[in-house]
Amino acid sequence: MNSIAQIVVEKTKSSKIGQVDFDHLSFGNIFSDHMLVCDYRNGAWELPKIIPYQPISLDPASKIFHYGQSIFEGMKAYKDKEGSIWLFRPLDNHKRFNISAKRMAMPELPEEFFLEGLKTLLRVDEAWIPKKEGSSLYIRPFMFASGKGFHASPADEYKFIIASAPSGAYFSGKVKVLIEETYSRSANGGVGYAKAGGNYAGQFYPTQLAIQKGYNQVIWTDDNTHEYIEEAGAMNIFVRIKDTLITAPTSDRILDGITRKSILDIAKDEGMQTEVRKINVSEVVEAAKNGTLMEMFGAGTAAVISPISGFGYRNKDYELPELANSYGARLKKRITDIQYNRTEDPFGWRYRV
Ligand SMILES: *Cc1c(COP(=O)(O)O)cnc(C)c1O
Repeated sequence: MNSIAQIVVEKTKSSKIGQVDFDHLSFGNIFSDHMLVCDYRNGAWELPKIIPYQPISLDPASKIFHYGQSIFEGMKAYKDKEGSIWLFRPLDNHKRFNISAKRMAMPELPEEFFLEGLKTLLRVDEAWIPKKEGSSLYIRPFMFASGKGFHASPADEYKFIIASAPSGAYFSGKVKVLIEETYSRSANGGVGYAKAGGNYAGQFYPTQLAIQKGYNQVIWTDDNTHEYIEEAGAMNIFVRIKDTLITAPTSDRILDGITRKSILDIAKDEGMQTEVRKINVSEVVEAAKNGTLMEMFGAGTAAVISPISGFGYRNKDYELPELANSYGARLKKRITDIQYNRTEDPFGWRYRV
């Protein structure tokens, strides 16, 4: 059942690639010619197939619409100077996908379906992986409850899809953040560690309120005391006080980001001091006041590292210094050099397609 000797590929008869301006790509709004689709029925995954990218039709009673069983991953495919295609730690995405599936009472997906399926899709849509510096093919594997019924229980049918979008470098610009004390992204015993669609839906409203106040993004604090900094929007957060790079430990409430853990390993390799521990809001405010707060940045696949220029807390704004040779910039260069096969990969993270 869990072995795919060959994936059926139905190629598009009308490629859209000629309409794409690969020199001016934005992020995630143009979609490649093909997608992988795989159905779970009668207690088993059917064989995945690759078909032309197209709308899907769903019964109005599909449980995704009512009970929100929906999870996803975010990955990238990179093309090097020779035209070879690379992924970055893809097995970790598969592992996390199944962790998310389990938490949402959804069926786990065999590794082979995820990885061989993705590799086949990337070969079919190879021309869609941009070559331009900083550009990549953003990959979105996702699964949702397609089975129907108004009964509040897990669905009996699911759909797994991988779609992709050629994307330019993700420039977040200067990000001003608001430390949030009213709303929470996640809670103890909740689903914060899962990449579940609903986690995002719940973030939009507090983020809109922050934007209305002149900020770009929310810094989430722990739901219990709001004393500890946990994540930056949908990214993990790093704070540099003096020369120590600090990030919060993963937990029920914090997503175990692949960028986060890679940055920790690279930072150690670069001889930077790192600490994985709770980050007190008051220590960050204090450091901002006494000039020892050097950097804050978000970390995630899309932007890799997103520098924070300042933060708001209890109606006061704090600015961060502009550094010439920031840890954030150094770490971003090192990780993207590995991703694009521009440097050695002593960690064994790069994965050839
Ligand atoms: C996806 C995600 C991240 C980053 O994970 P990466 O594996 O580095 O892309 C961080 N926080 C949240 C809430 C996320 O959903």
